[in-house]
Amino acid sequence: MIDVTDLVVSYGTATALDHVTLSVRQGEMVALLGPNGAGKSTLANTLAGILAPVSGTVRIGGRLALIPEGRQLFPDMSVADNLALGGWRSGQRDPSAVYELLPRLAELAGRRAGVLSGGEQQMVAFGRAMMARPEALVVDELSLGLAPTVTADLAAHLAELNREHGLTVLLIEQNARLAFELCHRAYVLESGRLVAEGESAELAEDPRVASAYLGGA
Ligand code: ATP
Repeated sequence: MIDVTDLVVSYGTATALDHVTLSVRQGEMVALLGPNGAGKSTLANTLAGILAPVSGTVRIGGRLALIPEGRQLFPDMSVADNLALGGWRSGQRDPSAVYELLPRLAELAGRRAGVLSGGEQQMVAFGRAMMARPEALVVDELSLGLAPTVTADLAAHLAELNREHGLTVLLIEQNARLAFELCHRAYVLESGRLVAEGESAELAEDPRVASAYLGGA
């Protein structure tokens, strides 16, 4: 569903992604881990077509939506209007399917997005992405700035969409524990290069990965 081959992306002369190759098969939920500045958001934005590669290829086998880092909502607009923006390209105006998936959004529909809690805002960003009726979803930092219980709630929704609706997910995370729990497979990106990949259970046992991402556990 998502195939990235030998991808190079630069900002001027600074290379942010250096020959990155990865794939996510249909119905899979795969994690991308890495520290600040590794190039994770650059990859997300390239997959979403916001950034253009210098070289290499990106193939997406279906409709793809992005939950961007920092949510990127319109704070002065209502939740309903933020959701409507997500349906703009697909022509979907009716949010009822999204309210069914994320019932809390129906309760928040009339509120200004800017007054919501971080977790509620992330749920709006989630719902906005689902308005595009995506077959694949890229989530850039689900847990960023959120309390663990709020993250767990959002993660449960994501896992349900993957399990019951076959949604393909690339989960970009700094929280390796969460990523390994949710995803069967993971890639590790450092300084623009993939340095490890494999099944989550194996990566969690890798001493280098454990010391860098699991606090030595
Ligand atoms: P974070 O989790 O902190 O967002 P990241 O892994 O998502 O990190 P990127 O945001 O993709 O990393 O950044 C990768 C590299 O590209 C970094 O060195 C960053 O400083 C640089 N970079 C990102 N955006 C720009 C930009 N608009 N102009 C120039 N350099 C940039």
